[in-house]
Amino acid sequence: MDNFDEDFLEIKETLEEINDGGNAAREKRLYELHARLEKVTPELFADFLIEKGAKSHCLSCHSSRISVLQRSKVDFEKIPDPKVTSELEPMEVARLWSEATVIYLRFFKIDPDRDNVLTNLQYRTNCQNCGFISHYRVLAVLEWVESLETVSGKKK
Ligand SMILES: [Zn+2]
Repeated sequence: MDNFDEDFLEIKETLEEINDGGNAAREKRLYELHARLEKVTPELFADFLIEKGAKSHCLSCHSSRISVLQRSKVDFEKIPDPKVTSELEPMEVARLWSEATVIYLRFFKIDPDRDNVLTNLQYRTNCQNCGFISHYRVLAVLEWVESLETVSGKKK
């Protein structure tokens, strides 16, 4: 996707917001965007870097101690009532919590003054040895992750 396409995408989103009367549309768009971003797990991000031939060591000091920031979200609808869980084995309860928890990569704005649109987001990796920070555009990663869904036929 070149710059023109990205700009077009953003203008289109902005126009849709204006036509829709602002806040409700903005909220819906952010909610949908967030749902997509929750698909990018640390494992898929690692697969993305390997697939693209990205360096797995720090570009500054060559250390392999690279970390990414993660976020997690629990889908409480998947957790049974405490009356039910109190009857279960601790291992079973732990399994339910694990299945209800989504871990995804934390993202940041590229330009802090602009909105949370897909084209303005980045992932960061941190070197735990020298502190060097690398940046990856969310758009590139998410498009790759979603292309996997298309291949495997999971896409709605
Ligand atoms: Zn380093």
